[in-house]
Amino acid sequence: MAERPKNYDPKEIEPRWYAEWMARGYFHADAAAPKAPFAIVIPPPNVTGVLHMGHALGTTIEDIFTRWRRMAAYNAMWLPGMDHAGIATQMVVERELRETEKKSRHDIGRAAFVDKVWEWRQKTGNRILEQLKRMGASLDWERTIFTMDPPYSAAVIEAFVRLHEEGLIYRARRLINWCPSCRTALSDLEVDYDEGTQGELYEFGYPLADGSGEVVVATTRPETMLGDTAVAVHPDDPRHKAKIGKMVKHPLVKREFPIIGDAILVDPKFGTGAVKVTPAHDINDFETGQRHNLPMISIFDDAGVVNAEGGEFAGLDRFAARKAVKARLRELGLERGSKPHVHAVGHCQRCETIVEPMLSTQWFVKMEPLAKPAIQAVEQGKTKFVPETWSKTFFHWMNNIRDWCISRQLWWGHRIPAWTCDKCGEITVARATPAACGKCGAAQLKQDEDVLDTWFSSWLWPFATLGWPNETRELKTFYPTTVLDTGYDILFFWVARMLMAGLHFMKKVPFRTVYLHTMVVDEHGDKMSKVKGNTIDPLDVIDKFGADALRFALAWLTTSAAQGKNIKFAVSNVEDASRFANKIWNATRFALMNLEGYDPDRFADWIADGPDRAELDLPERWILSRVQRVSEEVDTALEEYRIADAAQAAYHFIWGELCDWYIELAKAGFQRAGTDVEARSKIQGTLVTVLDTSMRLLHPFMPFLTEEIWQQLPKGSGLPQSIMITLYPVRDVRFHDDASEASMALVQKIIVAIRSIRTERKIPSAARPAVLLAINDDYKKTILEGYKTLIAEQGRCGEVRVRRTGASFSGEFVLSKMAMAMAGDVEVMIPLEGLVDTDSALEKLKKDKLKLDSDIAYLMRKLSDGKYLSRAPLEVVDKDKAKLAELEAALSKMLIAIDRLKKK
Ligand SMILES: [Zn+2]
Ligand SMILES: [Zn+2]
Repeated sequence: MAERPKNYDPKEIEPRWYAEWMARGYFHADAAAPKAPFAIVIPPPNVTGVLHMGHALGTTIEDIFTRWRRMAAYNAMWLPGMDHAGIATQMVVERELRETEKKSRHDIGRAAFVDKVWEWRQKTGNRILEQLKRMGASLDWERTIFTMDPPYSAAVIEAFVRLHEEGLIYRARRLINWCPSCRTALSDLEVDYDEGTQGELYEFGYPLADGSGEVVVATTRPETMLGDTAVAVHPDDPRHKAKIGKMVKHPLVKREFPIIGDAILVDPKFGTGAVKVTPAHDINDFETGQRHNLPMISIFDDAGVVNAEGGEFAGLDRFAARKAVKARLRELGLERGSKPHVHAVGHCQRCETIVEPMLSTQWFVKMEPLAKPAIQAVEQGKTKFVPETWSKTFFHWMNNIRDWCISRQLWWGHRIPAWTCDKCGEITVARATPAACGKCGAAQLKQDEDVLDTWFSSWLWPFATLGWPNETRELKTFYPTTVLDTGYDILFFWVARMLMAGLHFMKKVPFRTVYLHTMVVDEHGDKMSKVKGNTIDPLDVIDKFGADALRFALAWLTTSAAQGKNIKFAVSNVEDASRFANKIWNATRFALMNLEGYDPDRFADWIADGPDRAELDLPERWILSRVQRVSEEVDTALEEYRIADAAQAAYHFIWGELCDWYIELAKAGFQRAGTDVEARSKIQGTLVTVLDTSMRLLHPFMPFLTEEIWQQLPKGSGLPQSIMITLYPVRDVRFHDDASEASMALVQKIIVAIRSIRTERKIPSAARPAVLLAINDDYKKTILEGYKTLIAEQGRCGEVRVRRTGASFSGEFVLSKMAMAMAGDVEVMIPLEGLVDTDSALEKLKKDKLKLDSDIAYLMRKLSDGKYLSRAPLEVVDKDKAKLAELEAALSKMLIAIDRLKKK
């Protein structure tokens, strides 16, 4: 057999297998296949996207589920695609245009600009999908969909037209969130609130028109007084009650307006108890304006610059206007005070510009009728959230839902299918350009300039990707999808809206389970950001350690996600996973070097009715039973969406039981068997069987390594070409062997006890001491009698004697020179006479003790130093405390050892 490399090298192996899987069409699911469906749609990354840790995490989770179900004989389909990401993409292309041609989008016009975006998409738009391939994602690439593809666009238009026909989409002049930099409307969700913004509560006096005094108002935005159309006071406020109904004279623009009483808007305890009302630039004032029929005066243009309504301040930007208005008020002697004030300020999610509430005519979706069925579906358990706690958040938002502003003043996106008649102003909504106005018959129609919010196309994703509105085979087979995996940050943006759209258009929930993962943050818990420089590029990690190691590390770390905590990620996690890969590689290497003469078909026959217990030795019976139990554990964990538990169970078995124990037992077994072909083939068969099962078990987590190893294992006849399409290990009670597991557990405990005595007493490794086992249980005693050879081999000792507790070993050994340890209820004793030089051992122990004493003293001093405790970060102090506890434990063990030696 050719020498295999000592270290696993993912660089060569990963791309090779991915290409092979693609070429063989393993990722594709045929909608007509007579198998139970399992479907996941990818949260479509933005076409501008570059693979980050969040994508890596989602890809890992979704691929684990897909590969696992595919191996369990489901018709597993994982659908890839991309989002056109309206505003994000438009910004990228605009920037490029500015940099390369020194032009704005307005310079080249709408049609040419949209062409530019398509050109850009052609050039770089597949980058993220190519990067997903590096992760090993088994996506059904034939089904790749882009939200701007013609069939998908048709679905978007269809949804708009239907909702409009049903009265669920309407056009209205409303107060909306406006980004003066992006110059578009935003939905409520696209506004990020900075809760702790340091601002100013500014007070000024409005003179009463009849000259009888003034009313002092408090505001965080003095410049909006240019658009005030009332002052409101609480109707029961004794300070202001008498002023209700009087008129105020605006000091800066020629206007008079009333003082009104309004118990909803005014909190008499806040500020002066009187508030200015600007219906066109504040949502609460807008509602007040509607209650009192106040004029609504917009004072800003699209860029946030004061318009003609602002009189002398026209032409000033919002923030310059604030300064100018305050200066004028001071000049006029109307300034009344100012104090610092912390409040929440809304920023544009895209560009961080402070959002301006503006009165604007936009399209809206009426949400309440759509939300009700979605709330019900979750209440009835038709869709479940994992972790379950998210349903509370979901209900809260859904029960307080507001109408959704869906029109955007952008060029890149699905243009709104509404046409205005030049002649009569009638608006016609249609699936295709109408030939004539429905009302007056005129042929001059102009299409709405706006496009739809990107999320208006993504909320159709689970069914528009499968061919809706056509009744396709795909829809029939794969809708509702099985599980949706996504970050909790888009629960409202996307998940809740998909539920609403799915129930409305398909009459069925779009997915049975929503698995919400948390965010990947750096090892200190800080958000990864380019500005902070703490981002980790998944592609760099893959280059260094391989995709398998990255995937395994992420799967392991989903423990925190299950607890709703962010995932703290460090490259060291991937290094650990990479060591795991190497460990497996080396165990396989050992197996393959010892397979001469092995016949897989013969071994398969042999254990066809379960392992023949009389024929196989304890280590073989034990490991065959263990791999079976762990398979069940992993399978159950995956069924319950406990990904980390599944990964950890597989890891502990493969590393701890297979590599650390069984490989050692097999080495001794081969030695014992010598040239006995039958004895050898029992061990060979067990090694191959357990490795084969372990690789299949681990495949969803580490697809490349497992495929590479699986291919090298000798296989019986009639097996598939790839691990990807073999069966996932299933429950098989024939291999359950409680008795062997119990016996082996006992034997392992004894071996561990022997090893620890050897280390503690510094017994030279070449020494083969006798071992005396005392036990107060006849049944166990009989078992141990049977495994003396095993114990001697693994404990590297000579003779092993087993006695009832109390039965004397005297006469055979010097009892005072005996080292003792407990292994459960078994006393493990090793006679030390002649093995260790007690004097020098004592000397060495005493020296070690001095060092320990001084280390402990140092730490104790440190931890009682108030200055240190108040300055050092909590985790450093915790580390010191843990270290101290560790040293103290070591010291007490050492004292016992010294004591024992002294007695001799
Ligand atoms: Zn913006
Ligand atoms: Zn008309």
